[in-house]
Amino acid sequence: MRAPDSSRAFELAEPAERDPAGGVRARRAHFSASALNAYAECERKWFYRYVCAAVDDPGSAASAYGSAFHLALERFHERYVHPQPDDEAAMHADLVHEIDATFAQYRHGFPTAIEFEIQVRRAHRTTRKYVEWLAVEARKAPFTVVGRELPVQLDLEGFTFIGFIDRLDRDAQTGGVTVVDYKTGAIAASASEYLQVVREFGDFQLPFYYWVRTAAGDRVTRLSLLPLKDALLDVRPVCLEVVPVPAAATRRNAPIGTISIADLERAKARMIEICRELTSAQPRSFAPAGDPQACVFCAYALACTRRPPPDGNRFGR
Ligand code: SF4
Repeated sequence: MRAPDSSRAFELAEPAERDPAGGVRARRAHFSASALNAYAECERKWFYRYVCAAVDDPGSAASAYGSAFHLALERFHERYVHPQPDDEAAMHADLVHEIDATFAQYRHGFPTAIEFEIQVRRAHRTTRKYVEWLAVEARKAPFTVVGRELPVQLDLEGFTFIGFIDRLDRDAQTGGVTVVDYKTGAIAASASEYLQVVREFGDFQLPFYYWVRTAAGDRVTRLSLLPLKDALLDVRPVCLEVVPVPAAATRRNAPIGTISIADLERAKARMIEICRELTSAQPRSFAPAGDPQACVFCAYALACTRRPPPDGNRFGR
């Protein structure tokens, strides 16, 4: 047997000098409301997703469902710009057709054939609820769909924000504009709950859309979250009417409430403040989510060393 070649033996080295601690900067030159929402929900999640980009987020059936439904509605409203109550049957048939086409396009996002079939059927049931709601709204106050998946950009104190607005409607009588955000996931159950989320800086999406469309010259009068998650429930949007001064508190479970310009101003100021934090490059650590619910579907949970214990285990350790 040959003796081992000692010249190739592994040699221990002196430890290298530690690099001085440095800060972390956002990698992108622009910001989106979803990035700020991720930061508000969990600073670490923002760090993993927007700075490291090291952990692959393969997406989920829920995100494929959302993407396919959004695309179907975008195509559908290309034809139904002025929804008419009398067109309800035709609108329903048309939307079902679009759902079939867009879900086929996103088939790869569903792990199994059975899951795909279940989700297509769920979407079919939701289209009926959606079209029923659309016909009622058109009867109440005719409107024009003036934007679908509208790309938007806004510069605020040197920071650029970008995004896409799901739908913009203009009221035929008042000219007021409603920003509509389709939601295929969980949303606030009432207007007062959503207002509270905005006031606590937990959601920047609709405030951002308000400011971007106001800067574009629209008179934005309403911000609306349109729930498309539960196929068995009627579509009942959560709406905030924009008012110049804070109004009296809305009923707790009411779907319609108000939001003042001052609330929207505060949300805008916080957006700018977060961007300053994220571009300052000061050494810092990124705090984990305060609410363990944020970790349930987090794609970075395996990599995260500071994940809080699930609610049920908090006192069981
Ligand atoms: S596992 Fe929880 S604490 Fe960790 S990054 Fe995800 S959401 Fe944040």
